[in-house]
Amino acid sequence: MGQARQRGTQAQRIAQARAKIEALRPEKLVCGACKTAFSDFDALDTRNMAGIQAAFGGICPSCGETVLAFSGEKDAVANAMLAWQDAMENEGKLGKQSPTGEHVPFDEDDRS
Ligand SMILES: [Zn+2]
Repeated sequence: MGQARQRGTQAQRIAQARAKIEALRPEKLVCGACKTAFSDFDALDTRNMAGIQAAFGGICPSCGETVLAFSGEKDAVANAMLAWQDAMENEGKLGKQSPTGEHVPFDEDDRS
């Protein structure tokens, strides 16, 4: 829309990435622990995850479990899940999660 068609401007890349992620965004995540489906979740930063197209994560409103969904190559998804499990465990051990159960996801804000 009235924008110069420059290949690879950061804003365009971000917009494209957003559109791609939104297209992959599931309607709901389902908690693996209690099977609650919920739609209040965020897209996660997957820039450092090879083979992952999009990732979504949220906190189960029923039991507080962290629920993640990855989209991408099968092997990459499996690896990403393992990596996240490790990260989550470490977070728990280090007590990074706030006492209120608030989870701080990756920063996906624009860095313009
Ligand atoms: Zn749950």
